[in-house]
Amino acid sequence: MSLSCVSCGACEDACPTSIPVAQVFSLVGDKNQKEFDYVPGRSLNEPLPLRVYEEKEFEEVEQSYVETSAKQEAQDA
Ligand code: SF4
Repeated sequence: MSLSCVSCGACEDACPTSIPVAQVFSLVGDKNQKEFDYVPGRSLNEPLPLRVYEEKEFEEVEQSYVETSAKQEAQDA
């Protein structure tokens, strides 16, 4: 979902309990789409990121999250 979200808001309009799901999907989607350098709908010829994803592609991103998480835990301790 996060790689395909175009922030149209249709899911939020349809939610029976008015949960702002479009805002959540849009926020997460924007970050994930930037990580993959992917814009949903930009080109029909562009492969979906998860179809061409390589296991080691995001090691630096994963390491960044690990370091950030460790810093946050140290601050919270
Ligand atoms: S805003 Fe909701 S309905 Fe629209 S593309 Fe994103 S997830 Fe789908």
